[in-house]
Amino acid sequence: MTDLFSNFSMTIDGRSVASAATLDIINPANEEVVAKAPDCSREQLDQAVAAARKAFPAWRATPLDERRRLVAKIGEVLAQHAEDFARLFTLEQGRPLRGARLEVDFAAFWCGAVAKLEIPVEVNEDSELRRSETRHIPLGVVAGIVPWNFPVNLAVWKIAPALLTGNTMVLKPSPFTPLTMLKLGELMQDHLPAGVFNVVSGGDQLGPWLSSHPGIDKISFTGSTPTGKRVMQTAAENLKPVTLELGGNDAAIVLPDVELDKVADKLFGASFANSGQLCVAIKRMYVHEDVYDKVADAMVTRARASKVGDGLEQGSNFGPIQNRPQFEKVKDLIRDARENGLKFLVGGDVPAGGKGFFVPLAIVDNPPEDSRVVQEEAFGPVLPLIKFSDIDEVIERANASEYGLGGSVWSADTHKAIEIASRLETGTIWVNETQYIMPWTPFAGHKLSGFGVENGREGLLEFTSPQTITVAK
Ligand code: NAD
Repeated sequence: MTDLFSNFSMTIDGRSVASAATLDIINPANEEVVAKAPDCSREQLDQAVAAARKAFPAWRATPLDERRRLVAKIGEVLAQHAEDFARLFTLEQGRPLRGARLEVDFAAFWCGAVAKLEIPVEVNEDSELRRSETRHIPLGVVAGIVPWNFPVNLAVWKIAPALLTGNTMVLKPSPFTPLTMLKLGELMQDHLPAGVFNVVSGGDQLGPWLSSHPGIDKISFTGSTPTGKRVMQTAAENLKPVTLELGGNDAAIVLPDVELDKVADKLFGASFANSGQLCVAIKRMYVHEDVYDKVADAMVTRARASKVGDGLEQGSNFGPIQNRPQFEKVKDLIRDARENGLKFLVGGDVPAGGKGFFVPLAIVDNPPEDSRVVQEEAFGPVLPLIKFSDIDEVIERANASEYGLGGSVWSADTHKAIEIASRLETGTIWVNETQYIMPWTPFAGHKLSGFGVENGREGLLEFTSPQTITVAK
């Protein structure tokens, strides 16, 4: 029986592998060391890539139904150990247990759903003279690189479609949150053929080693925009296909006819879930002047009623910021807002001293459009609430961002909301909800939010190359 709370090892070629050096994994709620994770050496990375290359021919030749079964099995393993995975998640990531459990359950569901997706075969021509069809064949070894904010879900978004389509994988979780994926790798050793799914953990050097490795055929990356640019530069040298899911600065546009009693909880949750450390969090809330005070009240009331605390403590609704560098960034943004005389409706003070990276939920009252808190991706619980009066102007402001990940429109008039939604320059737009992302919904960032697609048919095909077969009759 695998113990989920100790002896963290990498999975390379179907075996547990330790390393000479280790990384301290810090609990962001108390800054204590939760565990030591392996710090992969260059040789060990070479071994992982070699193992994935060796496993590829047999895996791609494995009947699709068997690959479906094994992708679904990943979900079953997550579900079977959901409680322990959730606890481990909270210990290293900080999110309160309930939210951690939701992520593990969702990832389990996700594997089952991806396992059922069809890999399309398109018939281009079927005439008297010939038949031409296009199949989608695997690429080889996929490098999956994931961040620390959703360490289970965002990994599964890569593992499930990569393996289903017949690729093998080397997964690299974030150095801040490697523990859940290291354990998933260990648990899957009993089920997957050796080399199909390798998991390596390491410090800052490991990402560049992996993305520049000549044995990698595709990079599927989720993380920040600056790192995404570096990954794309590296990939260019070997002409590797990349999928980049990057940062965002999602705008919510709240119209005067918003049915606040129905959507206030959603607006609040979408802004502060995971303490704002979510690529598609509402990061700028534009509220029509007629309902600004009402919306502000609803948000402030909810913020005041929420408890920010250790995710393992009963009653904590929001956890700490996941790591010290991000904590410093969020504090800097708050400091900048204060120095520029912006008013906080709630929050805005980060108590000094004490252990843990806690930031009280903060709402900034109508900051100017060019303030940092509006222009930058906070990636923390700091929400600018911005007044607008003219719809054309607010659409322009929403679109002025260098990001284009998601956005949302909130109104009782669905037709009007859809019309506004279709003018937003983002990969996903929701009406009267946000953050609904499913295995069957393509998710793509426009502008600096990314390159390529995850999820849905388009996302699945990013793990394949088209191969057209034309047969003369
Ligand atoms: P990050 O870019 O610092 O790190 C992401 C991953 O890349 C980590 O595993 C890291 O070790 C690795 N890495 C770092 N340098 C690398 C390099 N040169 N080559 C290859 N890999 C390298 O991001 P983060 O701080 O972990 O995550 C937060 C960011 O991720 C935010 O900007 C957020 O919006 C974004 N994000 C985007 C999505 C999305 O789907 N669009 C989802 C979640 C998070």
